[in-house]
Amino acid sequence: MTSQQIRQQFLDFFKEKGHLIVPSAPIVLKDDPTLMFSNSGMTQFKDYFLGYKEPKSPRIADTQKCLRVSGKHNDLDDVGRDTYHHTMFEMLGNWSFGDYFKKEAIDYAWELLTEVYKIPKENLYVTIFEGDASENLDRDNDAYNFWKAHISEDRIINGNKKDNFWEMGESGPCGPCSEIHIDIRTEEEKAKVSGLDLVNNDHPQVVEVWNLVFMEFNRKADGSLEKLPSRHVDTGMGFERLCMALQGKTSNYDTDVFTPLIAKVEELSGKKYTGILEDEKDIAIRVVVDHIRAVAFAIADGQLPSNGGAGYVIRRILRRGISYAYRFLGMKEAFLYELVAILKNEMGAFFPELVKQERLVTEVIREEEISFLKTIEHGLKRIDLIINDTISKGQKTLSGVDVFELYDTYGFPADLSRIIAEEKQLTVDEVGFEEEMNKQKQRSKKSSAQKVYDWVVLEEKAESFVGYDHTESETYIT
Ligand code: ATP
Ligand code: MG
Ligand code: MG
Ligand code: MG
Repeated sequence: MTSQQIRQQFLDFFKEKGHLIVPSAPIVLKDDPTLMFSNSGMTQFKDYFLGYKEPKSPRIADTQKCLRVSGKHNDLDDVGRDTYHHTMFEMLGNWSFGDYFKKEAIDYAWELLTEVYKIPKENLYVTIFEGDASENLDRDNDAYNFWKAHISEDRIINGNKKDNFWEMGESGPCGPCSEIHIDIRTEEEKAKVSGLDLVNNDHPQVVEVWNLVFMEFNRKADGSLEKLPSRHVDTGMGFERLCMALQGKTSNYDTDVFTPLIAKVEELSGKKYTGILEDEKDIAIRVVVDHIRAVAFAIADGQLPSNGGAGYVIRRILRRGISYAYRFLGMKEAFLYELVAILKNEMGAFFPELVKQERLVTEVIREEEISFLKTIEHGLKRIDLIINDTISKGQKTLSGVDVFELYDTYGFPADLSRIIAEEKQLTVDEVGFEEEMNKQKQRSKKSSAQKVYDWVVLEEKAESFVGYDHTESETYIT
């Protein structure tokens, strides 16, 4: 089954169960002071849960473009190094707004996975919330009982607050959740260790696919919980992980979501992807094909790379990709922009914004690559010197001043310096770096109040875009 068919079957299944199918919200949020990016399917429905707005239908399903690179959900460090965490991913979801609750949510999920997708039951485990005395929260016995109708009791695992109490951010709607994990190991591997011991243990082939959240609370700004006006269901299933399981693969990168992109990187770099976890070249290829999706979708949704806020997050992701390709794939010229056409071919039918914004996305990425490549060589030489100097002084930490200089002069985001430092078992003086950044902010505020706009109104700008040109120190950092 192709990934397109897998997505469609999910939507068709829930449509048949009376759900209204809606499009994904943009990946970048512009009207939410608590969050820069959609980091889960429920983000666009927050107001429904809080009772501020009426949903279009009490039952909704969709696939949501998500980005987990900042704030409470930040998976960036794992991306490229494991096989199942991405920066940008699709979250398939079904919702009940004050309509059905735990029983139906559990029954639907089970029916879809085992009867429609035909995943063998003996490959599945579920987790439920064990409760938390400090917040007066009980064990989720209802979920336990509903699961018991489908799955043997020894496959229902108690989970703690970290895994089984879902919170969108520091505040907002939240509640106990019940996750479904899938075991895709070979029979031989399964005989060695029980999958039960591997659930929520970072095993690359016993992975969480679906999270069913039973939304009952709102976490207030002061940290306390209050009951929501009514109870809701919010589920999120990792699309790329589902494709991995259904396509009989052991890495998301071996599914047709990524293979066309990987083939193009192989063609452009002359390097072969071998899927090895620790191999620097393979890590770099995974980073590149992951990051291009995050950046392309963000730009297609209107977020240009820039030096502040959400734009800086996008610039950082792009520069991380460029630097991995530069260092481990030998890519000294701009090339990432060439992946945009592949992405559009693969995903444009479902996400028309990629078709509509292809030119803008391609041009912006190309400009960014050219501009960063101008300084990367010098920056890498400079960081080598700094690292050697630090080591020769017997120190273990790169100074904030040095990391700021790398940022300000060579365009190295601090996390890029951190990655390179960590390869030599060094750390970065984060506090010192922040201090330097703050000083810079004060200087720019004083010297110019000029604001760089990093958000484009696509209809107007898409046609007239001719590139943009600014250097790090000229721009106003927000
Ligand atoms: P994990 O424990 O694997 O990090 P999670 O518990 O943080 O996942 P949820 O917040 O429950 O994830 O999100 C719902 C689903 O989205 C997960 O069950 C998983 O399938 C998928 N998912 C979460 N984070 C990522 C990611 N970074 N890349 C791809 N899929 C993801
Ligand atoms: Mg996670
Ligand atoms: Mg989890
Ligand atoms: Mg989860």
